[in-house]
Amino acid sequence: MNSLKKQSLFNLMRSLSLILLLFGMAAGSVWAILAVPAPVVDYMLEADIRKEAELWRRRVVLHMEDPEASFESGSISPSDAHFLLLLPEASDVYRFRLFTADGEIFWSTRPEEIGEYETRSYFDSIVAKGNIHYTHKGRTTTEIDGMELHINDLHSDMEHRVAEIYVPLMHNGHFDGAIEFFTDITERRSIFIDRARMSLSVLTGIALLALSFAVAVTFRNNRANVRQLNERNKNERAILDEQLRLAREVQLLGELNEWLQSSRSLDELFDMVARFMTHILPNAEGSVYVYSNSRDVLDGCASWNGGNHKEHIHPEECWGLRRGRTYEFGSSEIDFVCEHAEPHDGRNYYCFPILAHGETVGLMHLRSTEGASDEFQTSKKLAQMCAEQISMAIANVRMRDQLHDQSVRDPLTGLFNRRHMNDTLRKFINFSQSTGKKLSLIAVDVDHFKKFNDNHGHDAGDMVLRAVGSVLEQACDGEDVACRPGGEEFTLIVSGTSQEDVMTKAELLRQAVEAIVVRYGEKALPRITISLGVAHYPAHGTMPQDLLRASDDALYDAKAKGRNQVCIASGAEVEPRDPNAQSDHFGPDQPEDNAAA
Ligand code: GH3
Ligand code: MG
Ligand code: MG
Repeated sequence: MNSLKKQSLFNLMRSLSLILLLFGMAAGSVWAILAVPAPVVDYMLEADIRKEAELWRRRVVLHMEDPEASFESGSISPSDAHFLLLLPEASDVYRFRLFTADGEIFWSTRPEEIGEYETRSYFDSIVAKGNIHYTHKGRTTTEIDGMELHINDLHSDMEHRVAEIYVPLMHNGHFDGAIEFFTDITERRSIFIDRARMSLSVLTGIALLALSFAVAVTFRNNRANVRQLNERNKNERAILDEQLRLAREVQLLGELNEWLQSSRSLDELFDMVARFMTHILPNAEGSVYVYSNSRDVLDGCASWNGGNHKEHIHPEECWGLRRGRTYEFGSSEIDFVCEHAEPHDGRNYYCFPILAHGETVGLMHLRSTEGASDEFQTSKKLAQMCAEQISMAIANVRMRDQLHDQSVRDPLTGLFNRRHMNDTLRKFINFSQSTGKKLSLIAVDVDHFKKFNDNHGHDAGDMVLRAVGSVLEQACDGEDVACRPGGEEFTLIVSGTSQEDVMTKAELLRQAVEAIVVRYGEKALPRITISLGVAHYPAHGTMPQDLLRASDDALYDAKAKGRNQVCIASGAEVEPRDPNAQSDHFGPDQPEDNAAA
């Protein structure tokens, strides 16, 4: 059970107990108002009557001529009797009687009682010991001696509440006798009871009001507490959801990073980007563009989640690229749509320039999916992080490509080096071996190249090498690979071409080189010629070194035969030649020796 439920339950219990208390108090008050006043009033009345009885006693004793003698002898003088008879008229006492110490009634407002003895035990046990004895009980109207002064309605048979009180007469610690007074307390009692009930009603009313107020305040506080708790709970849930979302994003970003780092090529990388971005940002359609090698356009590389990319875009078509920072369409009052984002339907989008080692290498374009612009806008930071990861991954792949290029390419001509030539030749031979695909080698050597160096300097020699390399590169069709294994020597690996076409290709190469005009400074360098040796797989060798040697041998043949010509390797059966072909070498009709020239 969570804390909110506990707190709500506690509040409910508190409210319920307060309501129960309120009802309990209301019921208790009604009971108290009805039942409690009588005993309380009786108790209070007793105290009053006891005091009054003392006054009555004093009045009686003071007016008697010789009270001690009267009580001792149990007789009374006529003047005392006269006074005593008047007493009920002048006081609340409607009846009283005088006792000797033995309990004999020697005077009473009811003369028939005179001479009787008080036999009740409390006379000896209480009164004779100097204590007042008080009782009260209900009596009929007739018992109140028919005295109008003491009864409102003589003929009513209403029961009256009568207080009986024995007051002892003590003299020097000696019990002389007692006086018993009877007084009607009915009216006083009912007035007292009414007053007490009224006071109680007022008090309980005030108490109930106060309690109701307390209940109302508690209820209000409880409601406020529950509201506050709900609010807090909602906030906590939102924070938890946010944390879960962040954790998921961090995990996905981590996975994306791991995958991107292990990609071997940009194509593979963009495939991964497309897959991951659909998961990481499901509310965004996306596409990625990367600068072409010439850097004048960006090539569309990948798109995902319903997005599409153009084949090429120009850098100036994008505000993100033009301003060199993230461009957010839809966040400001005035926005301009990037040209590459046309046609545009008003949806929010971001353009994140992709930077690698401080250089802009591309663009990631993200557009909100239909009706998800709010979620899209809150995901800007995540999108930015993705763009950074993708940037780093592109930089890594590019750097790896560059390192690989540096390790397999010749820096002067950009052609593949000897190591790559050997590897490629081995792979091609294996492939041809298993598939029967045609494979040939053309070895190329610049004739009298040393003279370019000697006569025009090494820079001129380098220019010649670059020019020849460029011709070879242009001559590559399909899977052909042009290499510069070293010095002024080149090799062309030709795949999937018939032997005859290879010979033609070699001859065309020779002619193309011969046609080159290389300008060095003010002047053009002398004509460049090359000698070429051709070897076919498997006719001239089944191993790379055999094939290379065979093509080299053919090249030396061409040199020996006067240079600037094509020779085919000898010593093996080759495919039947074109019947028009006259000799096993290609070249000008009159082989020309450059050295001689
Ligand atoms: P041949 O017709 O018999 O092939 O004669 P050649 O002069 O072309 O052949 P040789 O082997 O005598 O000379 C090759 C020269 O190429 C020697 C070397 O100094 C030069 N060389 C090798 N590599 C480079 C290079 O990268 N740049 C320049 N400028 N010269 C180079
Ligand atoms: Mg050479
Ligand atoms: Mg040479």
